[in-house]
Amino acid sequence: MAYTVSLAGKTAIVTGSTSGIGLGIARELAGAGADVVLNSYTDDAADHALAEEIARDHGVTARYIQADMSDPDQCRALIEKSGACDILVNNAGIQHVAPVEQFPAAKWDAIIAINLSSAFHTTAAALPMMREAGWGRIVNVASAHGLTASPYKAAYVAAKHGIMGLTKTVALETAEEPITSNAICPGYVLTPLVEAQIPDTMAEYDMDRETVIREVMLKRQPSKDFATVEQMGGTAIFLCSDAAAQITGTSISVDGGWTAL
Ligand code: NAD
Repeated sequence: MAYTVSLAGKTAIVTGSTSGIGLGIARELAGAGADVVLNSYTDDAADHALAEEIARDHGVTARYIQADMSDPDQCRALIEKSGACDILVNNAGIQHVAPVEQFPAAKWDAIIAINLSSAFHTTAAALPMMREAGWGRIVNVASAHGLTASPYKAAYVAAKHGIMGLTKTVALETAEEPITSNAICPGYVLTPLVEAQIPDTMAEYDMDRETVIREVMLKRQPSKDFATVEQMGGTAIFLCSDAAAQITGTSISVDGGWTAL
């Protein structure tokens, strides 16, 4: 028997969802019937067009709300402007790579703000709405770097480890309520962000595309295959399902075996 999940009547807010994993998760949640709120820090016609496309494709309500996840007030305003928040997906994230002694302090601050503190602010604003509705799901998009480290990614690894701690703490604070808090830990996912790194890496290592993908990018991903944004969406839907009602304070790795190494 096919296993289907209906999220009809639920409102899902996905931060950082005009691209990549966030957009993929928003599309899959809409496909399961949820009304969705897309977000980024820009306010372009293309942002609103994405929401219109999702509404048209899936017959749900979809809106785009601009809010910069580096600003605590805007994080909280995003939740309030949405009017409802049954499912909160904290996904917005940026990256910067440098040795720790050369890591620009401003980049450290931005990564901690966007990749970690934003989830604190949105969660704090969303929990009263979830309690009022009597149901809630918090899904934090962490990373394999929430469980393990790599050199030159001090801020990213610190933020992703931090969001794992936030995930667990919120799970304990909501444990007796019909609210769960979990993380998804992707390995390498072929998003526009990752695709854009391929030409430079090909030039740097003088390798063809396939060799760069296999030997450089997926060096630590034993499956030697990228995870997909649809798989992230499917994992989020599972965490929103009744089957996952007792899953809280933990993470699901979707990393082709990276963290099994
Ligand atoms: P992406 O660059 O394709 O998408 C990031 C999204 O966040 C975009 O919509 C962007 O506009 C938005 N964003 C950036 N700064 C923002 C801000 N200040 N306020 C609001 N929105 C902002 O990246 P992605 O690869 O889809 O990554 C999404 C999440 O998944 C991140 O948290 C990232 O750390 C995590 N992740 C990605 C991978 C991967 O391989 N792609 C692996 C593990 C974890």
